[in-house]
Amino acid sequence: MRPLIAGNWKMNGLRAAAAQLAAALRGGAQGCDLLVCPPATVLAEVAGLLAGSPVMVGGQDCHPDTLGAHTGDLSAAMLLDAGASWVILGHSERRQAHGETDALVRRKAAAAAAAGLKPIVCVGETEAQREAGQARTVVGNQLAGSLPPGFNGVIAYEPVWAIGTGRVPTEADVAAMHAHIRRQLVADLGEGGAGLRILYGGSVKPGNAAVLLGMAEVGGALVGGASLQAEDFMGIARAAAA
Ligand code: PEP
Repeated sequence: MRPLIAGNWKMNGLRAAAAQLAAALRGGAQGCDLLVCPPATVLAEVAGLLAGSPVMVGGQDCHPDTLGAHTGDLSAAMLLDAGASWVILGHSERRQAHGETDALVRRKAAAAAAAGLKPIVCVGETEAQREAGQARTVVGNQLAGSLPPGFNGVIAYEPVWAIGTGRVPTEADVAAMHAHIRRQLVADLGEGGAGLRILYGGSVKPGNAAVLLGMAEVGGALVGGASLQAEDFMGIARAAAA
């Protein structure tokens, strides 16, 4: 399967800057799938600008319910209606700042799939958990708790301590965790778990992308900071394609 390079713009992007970035990415990249996840306020506009291009658009979160009294929230169907085909769920920033639990992420993933969105479910350990030797157990528990039956989306392994810090795990640690995730996906989901893409996320830059993306079981990258500059994002895409 082609690698997926997904850009998480987080809370960045007023209309003019978002449009400029979308326009610069419009041509897509050879040899990999490109996805951008802009803030909800510009999602429809970015989706419109990227319509007809190979670059896909996603949301950064959705509510588990289909509609109702949920002030400030967005349903999966609303994201789809705005032009999204993907949604990031359970990002560590939402798990930490919004208290999102595995059970909630699981409900969101089920809602996204039911609405026709492809979910990217994020998992990853904190630095304290890694230092305590608990990284695999933490990630294993997150997977077990966050994936609904028959999950058919993408996993993003993002060590929390690597997000936005410029620090990345060793190659051996990435390889070991991705292999661990694959084993658990197969154990939990059967055959379906064998083909799911497992992205790496956490301080991916053009300079380290070739090594990270060249590793077995790394099926692409979830990119934060470096997705805000077209040149950097395309540099990562080129490394993925190579
Ligand atoms: C992220 O937030 O998903 C992420 C990977 O951020 P960064 O690339 O900036 O570390």
